[in-house]
Amino acid sequence: MRGQELDGCIIRDVGQHLEIVTYSHSRLATFTQCALKYRFRYVDDIPTQRESIEAFAGKRVHNVIEKLYRDLWDGRLNRNDELRDFYAFRWEEEWHQHVHVARAGETVDDHFSYGLDCIDNFYRENHPFNQSRTVMLEEKVEFNLDPGGWRRFQGYIDRVASRPDGTYEIHDYKTSRSRRSPGTSELRQLSMYQVGVQSMHPEVRNVELVSHFLCTGEVFRRQQAQTDLVKIVQDAHQLIDDIESERWFRANVTPLCNWCDPESGKASGRTQRFFRTGFHQI
Ligand code: SF4
Repeated sequence: MRGQELDGCIIRDVGQHLEIVTYSHSRLATFTQCALKYRFRYVDDIPTQRESIEAFAGKRVHNVIEKLYRDLWDGRLNRNDELRDFYAFRWEEEWHQHVHVARAGETVDDHFSYGLDCIDNFYRENHPFNQSRTVMLEEKVEFNLDPGGWRRFQGYIDRVASRPDGTYEIHDYKTSRSRRSPGTSELRQLSMYQVGVQSMHPEVRNVELVSHFLCTGEVFRRQQAQTDLVKIVQDAHQLIDDIESERWFRANVTPLCNWCDPESGKASGRTQRFFRTGFHQI
């Protein structure tokens, strides 16, 4: 690997790599949020044990939705109180000391209760869960972004379901409180999943993208024209070009810094200047 000494920092010359790189929605979103955070996680590969309470609670809610649909495959419909109990069980089972509450004034109990509210909303809005037939659950999709296969994309789809009219629904369950409708990033995520499903299963023609915002119970549905999908893949390529030609990986200080792991900056040994000037406060 070729490296470059710049302002006391070794910057990897990622643009010169001749290796297959697999991108994901979170990888692209991390670069868009903060190039330095991207470098810590994906270039320097600094391990972190920290997990935000939002991510932890979101995973437990996803555990519940997966159980609900897996049990339906076996002909069993869980009651709401059974799912709440399962949520509490998985919360306790998965809890670890590195779960981090970033927002001042919030407690672990607040987030536990918020997850329960998400489950109640989902149950109330979707019971008896017979609107479509589940065909994929928490399944990995992976496909080539370019004909040569140098850039790949992978993701885990929450659920794919088929309707009697032949339409396939790609479902995504959001537990975020800050976003209450799909934005550009969510649309890119689901559109890339559609490209992945259709490349793995060419028989899937009609697709609807379904975003569930569990904090309110609202559901957003959208069908993407082929031209929209082509444009989204082109935009992803452009973003990856930017990532692979990046040299400076500058910090982008925003309120989201509160969710960053300060150990990453220390472990890199490359951010002391930012700490001293107060520019990179974490
Ligand atoms: S603390 Fe903020 S500026 Fe620093 S790496 Fe994290 S997100 Fe970027």
